[in-house]
Amino acid sequence: MINLSRLVHRRVAALRSPLPGALRVPLSHVGPRLTVAFLAVALLLPLVGLVAIREQHAASLRAAQIEAENVAEQVAHTVTKPTAPGRALLYQQPSQLQEYVSGVNRDGNRDLEIVALNRRVLADAIPANQGKLFTEDRGGEVAATMRDGMPRAFRELNADFPAGIELVAVPMRAAQNKIVGAVLLEYTPLYRQLLAAGGETRQLIVTASLTGMAAALALGFLLSHGLVRDLRRLTRAADLLAAGDGSARAVVGSRGELGELAGAFNTMADRIAVQKATLIELAGRDPLTGLHNRRSFAERLTGALAYADRTGTPVSLLMLDLDHFKSVNDRYGHPAGDQVLRTVAALLVRELRAVDVAARLGGEEFGVLLPGIDHRDATAVAGRLRAAIARCPVVHAATTVLVTASIGVVCYPRHARTADELFERADDALYRAKRAGRDRVSGPQPPQPAGR
Ligand code: GH3
Ligand code: MG
Ligand code: MG
Repeated sequence: MINLSRLVHRRVAALRSPLPGALRVPLSHVGPRLTVAFLAVALLLPLVGLVAIREQHAASLRAAQIEAENVAEQVAHTVTKPTAPGRALLYQQPSQLQEYVSGVNRDGNRDLEIVALNRRVLADAIPANQGKLFTEDRGGEVAATMRDGMPRAFRELNADFPAGIELVAVPMRAAQNKIVGAVLLEYTPLYRQLLAAGGETRQLIVTASLTGMAAALALGFLLSHGLVRDLRRLTRAADLLAAGDGSARAVVGSRGELGELAGAFNTMADRIAVQKATLIELAGRDPLTGLHNRRSFAERLTGALAYADRTGTPVSLLMLDLDHFKSVNDRYGHPAGDQVLRTVAALLVRELRAVDVAARLGGEEFGVLLPGIDHRDATAVAGRLRAAIARCPVVHAATTVLVTASIGVVCYPRHARTADELFERADDALYRAKRAGRDRVSGPQPPQPAGR
């Protein structure tokens, strides 16, 4: 047969014992990981800013290039266009050409050069260069344009301009589309102008990126800090609960999933507390009668004696044993005996005050604790109980059983100084009642006069 009390004790002990270590959540990595994640997100913003600035540079360059190409094509067209039938073309007239180029240079502040197929400079913004050999085509871009007729944009690096000079080369076409040279136009000033015009936008991009990064970092820090703190609180509450502290609850600042988790944890902790209280209560009860068992009764007695000591009040103990109970079992059967035990228990509860404690100490033996009651009143209570039991018919399976009880009465601090001693004296008193003929109440043996 399963011993209910042992089972209950085991379950209560299980509730107190800590959870296995494997169930612990390792939190040491959560904080650094979140920080790295937020850092990565925060760094994305300046990266996007950089891309935007690069795009702006590229767009400025492209716009300046297109403009320069248009102007260069216009020049190429002008110098190769016949003004009147039979008249020489402008590019074939060195002094007029130089005049024209100087004019364009002056009006538009543009550095331009016209190169012939044979790499002679036909005209240059610096007139002294006219007629010289064109030697600056380091990348071969101008030569390539004169070869395939495709306009080209390129950067020429030289010692005077370490940042480079932006140039376009367009072909010069005469009759039958024949390439006769190239127009070379610098557009660095325009490019610089466009870049300068975009300065404010760039400033805005940089400010927005840095502000965004700082905001993302601050937000990330606050979020991860709050998250880690709440996770720690949850873990601590779980640890405390596992270590047996039933009052441990998780208080977290987060809402959402973590808040819900904490709520679920607290509900679980509440249920465990109720379950634990029920199990502890059950562990102190006698399953047949529902009265306190011997262990719980001993605890109550210790508490009652401490209270009596503090307040200087008495407390009485009754030890009650049913008479010839074995013969009840023998004659009517064990179930009838059980019914007698339950009926006597109910009678005790009914007859006693709420502050009194009734217990089944084992077999057919009961204990009653009467706080604040002295020996005389306790004897009267015992007498009343004895009479009530003797009068009480126990009906079981069409038979009515009558039982009597013998009761020993002792009082603290009059008859004993400790709980054990009080139990012993109560046992003696009960034995005296049995010996005196049963169905009666007895006190402890009066002290023997000296010398007898
Ligand atoms: P006395 O007047 O001297 O007390 O005699 P008694 O027969 O009452 O005492 P004894 O100790 O000889 O017998 C007690 C009996 O109580 C024996 C046992 O079978 C019975 N008993 C103990 N526990 C239970 C129980 O839970 N249910 C039932 N039905 N009987 C029980
Ligand atoms: Mg008995
Ligand atoms: Mg007995």
